[in-house]
Amino acid sequence: MSKLTVALVAHDHKKPELLAWVQQHIDTLRQCDLVATGTTGGLINSETGLTVTRYKSGPLGGDQQIGALIAENKLDALFFFWDPLNAAPHDPDVKALLRLCSVWNVPVACTPATADLVVTSPWFLSSEYKPIKPSF
Ligand code: PGA
Repeated sequence: MSKLTVALVAHDHKKPELLAWVQQHIDTLRQCDLVATGTTGGLINSETGLTVTRYKSGPLGGDQQIGALIAENKLDALFFFWDPLNAAPHDPDVKALLRLCSVWNVPVACTPATADLVVTSPWFLSSEYKPIKPSF
């Protein structure tokens, strides 16, 4: 069974929350290929020891690189703890990333509660569940 490819992204004020969430679900996440925006990925690696493929920092194009994975049907889930209380210079990229999840029916969790439910679903690591991919 091929591994799931899972993306992890957190805005600066949300990084502690994402790190705590990763620690909580480390055994599940260890079974996935992890990708992340640059700073998020570096922190996850240094704090948890998990191997993470790091793209550019979000404001420098990292969100768009993860979006490209979605457009190429190479991403299985996105955990994106974006910050609702602070303006981001790359707000258009944030919206574009969330938009592509909707376009391509990719599971996306933006809060720890949703992320808990997604990652503990019996379908999460199972090959039994394949999201329907729209045909355009
Ligand atoms: P960062 O990017 O992981 O490089 O901080 C996250 C983002 O702002 O999208």
